[in-house]
Amino acid sequence: MHIEVRNLNKSFGDFNAVQNVSFEIEKGHLIGLLGPSGGGKTSILRMLAGLESPTSGDILFHGKRVNDLPPQERGIGFVFQNYALFKHMTVFDNIAFGLKVKKQSKEQIRQRVTELVELTGLKGFEHRYVHQLSGGQRQRVAFARALAPEPQLLLLDEPFAAIDAKIRTELRTWLKEMIERVGITSIFVTHDQDEAIEVADEIMIIGKGKLEQKGTPWEIYKNPQTPFVASFIGESTVVEDLSVLKGFESAAADHPGTKALIRPEYIEIGRPGEIKLASATLDANVKDVHFRGSEWLVELLVGNVKLITYRSLEKEVLRPGDFVNVLVHRAYLFNDNDSWIAENS
Ligand code: ATP
Repeated sequence: MHIEVRNLNKSFGDFNAVQNVSFEIEKGHLIGLLGPSGGGKTSILRMLAGLESPTSGDILFHGKRVNDLPPQERGIGFVFQNYALFKHMTVFDNIAFGLKVKKQSKEQIRQRVTELVELTGLKGFEHRYVHQLSGGQRQRVAFARALAPEPQLLLLDEPFAAIDAKIRTELRTWLKEMIERVGITSIFVTHDQDEAIEVADEIMIIGKGKLEQKGTPWEIYKNPQTPFVASFIGESTVVEDLSVLKGFESAAADHPGTKALIRPEYIEIGRPGEIKLASATLDANVKDVHFRGSEWLVELLVGNVKLITYRSLEKEVLRPGDFVNVLVHRAYLFNDNDSWIAENS
């Protein structure tokens, strides 16, 4: 289903939880709503679902305004973080629930549930009760139940939040494949950037009620429009005083108040003499070193400016207090309103 949202607003009393949000979603796309807690992600989802009415603005499904359509007539399936499965029912009955509501025949229901049980890898579990399932299995039942009535839009609110880390990673891949196979337009809410990057075709970054940026994970990583957005996709440090960075002096002079945003991967570090472009290097001290499983995360101090970077496990281990040279290959520059100015490299 093609979705369009125009100037959507939601106020609770005098608090504006959602402010002038507009976007379009192509049919079959999987969209991640990413942002901090309280930003308004769930409110947007609830308005799409019809569980909350907008204070102003329009919601269009297939070009038709649905603001006044009740939830059950919007053709939407839901998956929530806490499963919301019916505990006194079996897997079969949970999946069949929406079909019974639609008064489908026993045979139709049996066929559709069988299809979904196969699609979601739950064959053999049909007669188990919810408490006899693992968290991951429960979430797959929730997914099958949401898909059973053949909705045209699937809304997932933090679908993996209650599941432990290892299973969560498996479920993400599973969900992406499943949604591609079914070809259903889907929107999921998350505050986990890895989840959004891994699963979504496109990400919408939501902060303080506003849509800050929409794009593929790669577009957002490459071109963050604000430091806030950059902090949600990839890692970065913001340097307020450009005068400490060699190579950025002219940008600092041209745009007073400029901040630089530097990602760990834009920084090269080495022992004195190790970096070829020695004239452009900065002197730094290692503040701290953290083992990250596949690499070291190194915290650096250039004067009193803190930067972070990674270091390969194959290289000599650095220790707090070590003196190093640092070369900043690239930075994104923002003015004092946090608006994008340029990329300096
Ligand atoms: P989380 O990740 O914590 O779920 P969120 O981005 O989904 O956050 P929302 O749940 O949409 O955020 O909430 C946005 C803001 O609106 C929050 O500050 C919240 O307290 C407020 N809010 C949400 N629902 C109501 C309500 N019914 N009455 C008053 N305020 C509300």
